[in-house]
Amino acid sequence: HNSLMWFRQDLRLQDNQALVAACEHAQQLSQRGGEQASGKVRALFFATPKQWQQHDVAPIQIDFIERQLNVIAHELAELGIPFDVIHVADFDEVPALLAQYLDYWQIEQVFASSEPEFNERQRDRKVLASGIKLKLFSQHCYLAPLSVRNLAGDMYKVFTPFAKKWRDIAKQTPVRTVAKPLAVAKPLPLPSAIELRYQKRCSDDWLVGEAAAHKQLRQFARSKVNDYQAVRDFPAIDGTSQISAYLAIGILSPAQCLQALLGYYPDALVDDDSPGRCWLNELIWREFYRHLLIAFPSLSKGANFNRLADHVAWRNDPQEFQAWCEGRTGYPLVDAAMRQLNQTGWMHNRLRMVTASFLTKHLLVDWRWGERYFKQNLIDGDLAANNGGWQWSAGTGCDAQPYFRVFNPISQCEKFDPTGEFIRKYLPELDGVDLKLIHKLKIPFQAQLFGCVSYFSPIVEHKFARSRAIAQLAVMKRGA
Ligand code: FAD
Repeated sequence: HNSLMWFRQDLRLQDNQALVAACEHAQQLSQRGGEQASGKVRALFFATPKQWQQHDVAPIQIDFIERQLNVIAHELAELGIPFDVIHVADFDEVPALLAQYLDYWQIEQVFASSEPEFNERQRDRKVLASGIKLKLFSQHCYLAPLSVRNLAGDMYKVFTPFAKKWRDIAKQTPVRTVAKPLAVAKPLPLPSAIELRYQKRCSDDWLVGEAAAHKQLRQFARSKVNDYQAVRDFPAIDGTSQISAYLAIGILSPAQCLQALLGYYPDALVDDDSPGRCWLNELIWREFYRHLLIAFPSLSKGANFNRLADHVAWRNDPQEFQAWCEGRTGYPLVDAAMRQLNQTGWMHNRLRMVTASFLTKHLLVDWRWGERYFKQNLIDGDLAANNGGWQWSAGTGCDAQPYFRVFNPISQCEKFDPTGEFIRKYLPELDGVDLKLIHKLKIPFQAQLFGCVSYFSPIVEHKFARSRAIAQLAVMKRGA
């Protein structure tokens, strides 16, 4: 008679349709049977260390998940819902263990949120094929994948018309979110601490809990959305929402984000000039990449979107890759960005584009190497956005930056860190060096002269690297 809420990347109690449905289901059953709903809902999370390893989940994200699981366990206990965390190796072990669990607790119906990634969907198919009654709710996007189609009925391959159609659909109905369910039973005793058996890295710089996430979202919507377009490209300015980690593990839902935005900018969906439009478009980029993952499952398996890119002869020099990872390329903006990632587990969007372009174009390293390194280190690591961002940067993707457009890491630095504030924060060795010299990459010369700065010579000369990249990547040109 019980129902089960199976938590995944939807680690929240508010606006969680699956959780609400699990509670309603139990209530309906108890009303029918004349029993109390008491104790009829359980909740479960599968920890899958081998799978995490295969998916390159960052230790900082696992720590973040662990902290949020502990918050959820307490909140569920207050609602009278017991919460179990079960360790299995990987998704393959899930169907059998889930069947045993359901049998033991006499549970007939399971509720969960669907996920767009290939392996996750395979897991769900296997669970369903084993006869388990699993009801999935599509809430990882605001508009469900495959619901935003072009006139021919296909998924868009270009962002701008996708975004237009997305807004057209979204503006037809008011944003709805569902409330946290009411208690189904008396509060349970305090649950014991949950520990995920996996490598972890401290994520304490990011508050957990829905209250903290909503506070950040509200503050951003109230006071920062207005300036977002003007300041979002400057890494020294705290001008973006920094909610990606919350969206990645589902502490926030996309509907809640849209609702917060429309609360302050009700015209964002309808007026092209609304100050809320720019940020709205970022939320739509997130959806675009998730829809692509469903429409083109090979993306989850590392395929180039543009199959002509299969012919690119990547150089893949391991030492150069290592220098990029460690922030030793001699290009200050690239190095400062990589150190931001290594030190904090997060990187500003402008810098994700600059570093990805540098790796794939200046160094001609396969974008998959960079995608993997990002995923292994980002607190907001997310297959859809990460893959989309990397393929966009490498020029191999759907609606990608063209292969012949190569970011100039020097002018990007002058433009987006004009005062050098960001660079100096992460490259303290450049403290005291004239900004003009930093921007002109004259630091090694200067260092030799005064013997006071130890910084790296540029790993490759920009103009040379640019022409080399264009020559190598031209195989992606249609008809080449
Ligand atoms: P804001 O600028 O405030 O945007 C709000 C939200 O919109 C973000 O939290 C995010 O959910 C979404 N969003 C914004 N930009 C994008 C985008 N370009 N693509 C998809 N969604 C977007 N984002 C991730 O969440 N996880 C990743 O693993 C990831 N990897 C990336 C790799 C590369 C090479 C690139 C170029 C981008 C990547 N992004 C990724 C997208 C983007 O950089 C981050 O979402 C953003 O920097 C997060 O900061 P924020 O929350 O302050 O974003």
